[in-house]
Amino acid sequence: MGSKVVIATTSSHSSFYNIIPGAIEEGLEVYVVCFDRDWELWSQYPDLLNQINIIRVKDYSDSKATVKAFNSLDGDVVIVPHGSFVRYLSVIELKQLKHPILGGVKILGYEGNRNLNSELLVASGINTPKVFSDGEAIDRSVMVKLHGAEGGKGYFIANNKADFQKKSKGMNIDFIQEYISGVSVYAHYFSSPIEKRCELLGFDRRIESNANSQYLVSTEEPSFTVIGNVPIVVRESLVPEYHRMGRNFADQTGLVGPFCIETIVTNDPKIYAFEFSGRIVAGTTVWVPYGNTYANNLWGESMYMGKRIAREIKRAYEKKKIDLIMVDSPKLEEI
Ligand code: AMP
Repeated sequence: MGSKVVIATTSSHSSFYNIIPGAIEEGLEVYVVCFDRDWELWSQYPDLLNQINIIRVKDYSDSKATVKAFNSLDGDVVIVPHGSFVRYLSVIELKQLKHPILGGVKILGYEGNRNLNSELLVASGINTPKVFSDGEAIDRSVMVKLHGAEGGKGYFIANNKADFQKKSKGMNIDFIQEYISGVSVYAHYFSSPIEKRCELLGFDRRIESNANSQYLVSTEEPSFTVIGNVPIVVRESLVPEYHRMGRNFADQTGLVGPFCIETIVTNDPKIYAFEFSGRIVAGTTVWVPYGNTYANNLWGESMYMGKRIAREIKRAYEKKKIDLIMVDSPKLEEI
C-alpha cells in the first residue's frame, strides 16, 4: 500500500456507485472484496476498476472468506460498512475484523434488532409508532414485519386484531408496529467529530411495489418491497425538526459517521420515525455525484454521502485525529 489513506468495503450498489466514487474523488486508496455475484456487473466498468484494488471472494454468504480477505490487508485501513455488508456479516464476525469499522459495531447490532432499534429512537426523544409486543394487544391498524424480511418484502398491514389473527397464521412474525399513514421520508445524516456537528445531508423517499406506485385500486394487498429511491426536498416547516432528530440521535449514541432516520409524515403533518440505519443507506446514492440542496448549502460544493465519508476520514488523518472518528458509539451499551 502507498502513502494514501486506505478504505475497504465489500461489493454492493452503495459501495460501487457511492462509497467508491466518493473515495476516488477525495484521493483515497480503495480495496474492495468483490463477490462473484457482482463481478459480471462490475466488469462492465473497466475505467473505475482500474482505480481500485479488488479481492475476489466467490460467495457473499461465505463470511469466513470475507473476514479473511479484510484481515489480509496490512497497514491503516478503515472499513466502511453498508446495507449488505451488515446483512452478510454477523456482529460476532464484525468483531473479528482487525481494522476499525467507521461507525463501530455496536450501532449495527442495535440496527439489526427491531426492538432495540425502536427503543433507541424513543430514548433519543424521537416520535415513533407504538410497538405491540403481541397480537392480543392490537387496538389499531398495524404494520407486521416478518423475521428475515428485508426492504419491506413480506410486510403486511392488519386493520385490527381479528385481521391480524387471520393474516398471521403460519407467519414468522418478528415485530408489530402501529401503521402510520402518510409519506415516507428518509433523512440522511453524518455525525462528524472533525467538524463537531451532526449534518443533515438530504432526504430521499422510496418507491415501493406496489404501495406507492401502481397501487391505485383495492384489488390486491399493498406490498412494501422497496424497488428504488427518489430525491425529495421536504416541506419547509419540517426541516428544523429533522435537524433536531439527527442531533438527538447522535447525542444519545455518540455515533460517528453516516446514519438514516426512516420516517412517515402524516397529514398533520407529524413525523413518526419507524426505524434507523446506523450506516450509509441506498437512498443517499440518488445524490451522486452532484449533491443536493441541503448538503451543498452546508459545504459550498457538491457533497454526497460517499464523498462525505471519504472527506471525514481524510481530514481525520490530515489532522492526526483518527482516534476521534474510530469510536464505537461510546454512549451505547454493548449488546
Ligand atoms: P423497512 O424495510 O422497515 O424500512 O420498511 C419498508 C417500508 O415499509 C417503508 O419504506 C414504509 O413504506 C413501510 N413501513 C415500515 N414501517 C411502517 C409503519 N410503521 N407504518 C407505515 N409504513 C411502514
